[in-house]
Amino acid sequence: MPSASRRFAVLLIFAGVALTILYFSGYSDTIDSVGAQLRPASKEATQQPIVVEDSILHGHAIAPKLGNETAKAELGRAAWKLFHTTFARFPDKPTKDESRALKSYIHLFQRLYPCGECATHFGELLQKYPPQVSSRSSAAAWGCHVHNKVNERLKKELFDCSNIGDFYDCGCAEDEKEGGTKAQGKAETS
Ligand SMILES: Cc1cc2nc3c(=O)[nH]c(=O)nc-3n(C[C@H](O)[C@H](O)[C@H](O)COP(=O)(O)OP(=O)(O)OC[C@H]3O[C@@H](n4cnc5c(N)ncnc54)[C@H](O)[C@@H]3O)c2cc1C
Repeated sequence: MPSASRRFAVLLIFAGVALTILYFSGYSDTIDSVGAQLRPASKEATQQPIVVEDSILHGHAIAPKLGNETAKAELGRAAWKLFHTTFARFPDKPTKDESRALKSYIHLFQRLYPCGECATHFGELLQKYPPQVSSRSSAAAWGCHVHNKVNERLKKELFDCSNIGDFYDCGCAEDEKEGGTKAQGKAETS
């Protein structure tokens, strides 16, 4: 008959082996899942169309509340810059596809905006003032208008929207003149 201390030692060894197996099986799962994200997509996966349904564009705001006022203001300034510059660089005469892309982008921008309470208010604004995406000038004027609605609610000074074109002129006219060729060249070398 093995003594109690011997039985205890055997039990300890079993427990140790079991824990080691459990630890390494969990660890390899993590490596696999990270590895899977880094692997190039298969041909089959890239051929799957991405369908953005209406319910995805119009769902609830996804991010939680952003309590930190400094972070909220910094994020806001950066986001507005991106928002207005996107409109300033949008085609004058967009195709149907380009207009649909912009409209979807605005709705997803709202849903995923990292300040949850801002996103909820902005969602209400989008319902009241649906995105205007038929041309660069209509998109820019619409963007200015909804930003002013946010300014109004936050008791900020209103922006003069007649200056919107000049204000967000990024000085990229040369790139535009050279058109797709330059853009393609850049993409190839990057
Ligand atoms: C979609 C969205 C929703 C937001 N909701 C909230 C919220 O609910 N609560 C909250 O506290 N903060 C919110 N913010 C942040 C807020 O709007 C400001 O960005 C933040 O308070 C910093 O303000 P600011 O005075 O520096 O100027 P911002 O409003 O950030 O503007 C940046 C610059 O844009 C220019 N500008 C101002 N008005 C316009 C306009 N109408 N059109 C074009 N350019 C303009 C000015 O040069 C200004 O300095 C939101 C931001 C975004 C992008």
